[in-house]
Amino acid sequence: MIERKGYRCFDLKDGYADLDLGKTMAELIQYVNDAIEVMMMMERGRIMMKFADLVDKHVEELAVLDTIDAGKLFSMGKERDIPGAAHTLRYYAGAADKIHGETLKMSRELQAYTLREPIGVVGHIIPWNFPSTMFFLKVSPALAAGCTMIVKPAEQTPLSALYYAHLAKLAGIPDGVLNVITGFGPTAGAAICSHMDIDKVSFTGSTEVGRKVMQAAATSNLKSVSLELGGKSPLIIFDDADVDKAVDLALLGILYNKAKLLLQSFTYIQTSSRVYVQEGIYDEFVKKSVEKAKTWVVGDPFDPSVKQGPQVDKKQFEKILSYIEHGKREGATLLTGGKPSGEKGYYIEPTIFTDVKEDMLIGKDEIFGPVMSLMKFKTVKEAIERANKTRYGLAAGIVTKDLDLANTVSRSIRAGVIWINCYFAFDRDCPFGGYKMSGFGRDNGLHALENYLQVKSVVTPIYNSPW
Ligand code: NAD
Repeated sequence: MIERKGYRCFDLKDGYADLDLGKTMAELIQYVNDAIEVMMMMERGRIMMKFADLVDKHVEELAVLDTIDAGKLFSMGKERDIPGAAHTLRYYAGAADKIHGETLKMSRELQAYTLREPIGVVGHIIPWNFPSTMFFLKVSPALAAGCTMIVKPAEQTPLSALYYAHLAKLAGIPDGVLNVITGFGPTAGAAICSHMDIDKVSFTGSTEVGRKVMQAAATSNLKSVSLELGGKSPLIIFDDADVDKAVDLALLGILYNKAKLLLQSFTYIQTSSRVYVQEGIYDEFVKKSVEKAKTWVVGDPFDPSVKQGPQVDKKQFEKILSYIEHGKREGATLLTGGKPSGEKGYYIEPTIFTDVKEDMLIGKDEIFGPVMSLMKFKTVKEAIERANKTRYGLAAGIVTKDLDLANTVSRSIRAGVIWINCYFAFDRDCPFGGYKMSGFGRDNGLHALENYLQVKSVVTPIYNSPW
């Protein structure tokens, strides 16, 4: 991140070279370089902290930009997304000077150590559903690792990314380190994926586009790729669950994004789009979830009383409505919602279907809208089999008071994150990413640093070696 040459000159001029350390010049330069390495990493962390402070300072403007662009609730951006973005930066700022390798004994007369070096130039391609969260989920570990980068926000939501580029400059991130380019996927996004001088692409978006990203990487320079893709995540609710709490969790999972706060939220996260409810509580669950969904206020995302804003654009709005029509045609029962809300804008009523089967379009495709499918099951075995009956493996939820059952089912579901008696519960240090066609690689946590680092082994003979 900091240009090495500049620091080297500065430090030598300012006295390191004059220190009497009893070293040869070559040793001295090595010594200085080592010091610079440490300082560079600390400096990186310091600048990232400053960047985070600037994000906090501009929280209102940034929340406005995400609301204008994505239709997200303003209060959600102000209270959660933007402060959370600053928190992510700080988390990785603290990691910047703690990236070390290992010492390896090796066999016979050799020993080695590993260096963990920045992977190089990174292209981050992100979607529209969490413009600020996604920006920092990608940029923060890459900065901590010492990479330079180009971020391409979704074409629907470029504004906050541009503002972040401005704040990065104010924070002291040198020109050229963090670049934002706006544009459409098939042009700007594709150019990143096939560029011969980009070493890594970190992509979040649909499975369909994720496949194109990999293809472009394969046919260009075989750049490293990590993919966070779509999902059709199950939430399994067992008979012993507290039904009211389970209803809240189910609605939270499907309707979270444009919503106000946890347990009061709603819209287009891909999480609990398939809700499996055990037969003993099924009827009560259906009744209560429909009642609750009907109370949801859909409207202007700047209005504090509103719990669900509009869909991001016409395309997404029409896509969701078309899935709803498919659901009706395929024989699922529409319990509530199912049509646009109001006369104007891309608003959709919170929608719940029952009698859904996994081979229906609404049972297997990612809708990415406020549409929940309720399904009844009898046994634990059946729940596990049906939960796994998907090409995706992003997340899953389990609601039960039986810890043994929860732990057993957790091991049986092929998904990157399992929430027991909670839903959509994220934090910086908890890795997030998919199994199967939900992608590979992890965002969040120290795992995410690995996306942006290379491991180099340095091998050396030891005393009496035949080398
Ligand atoms: P999308 O795949 O259409 O677009 C995502 C990004 O890819 C955008 O920036 C877009 O411009 C770019 N893009 C499109 N075509 C491209 C191409 N040919 N080459 C390179 N880049 C290209 O997804 P979207 O509609 O913006 O977002 C919704 C999708 O994102 C859903 O499928 C959702 O599941 C997924 N998503 C996944 C996660 C996760 O953590 N797994 C999180 C958020 C969203």
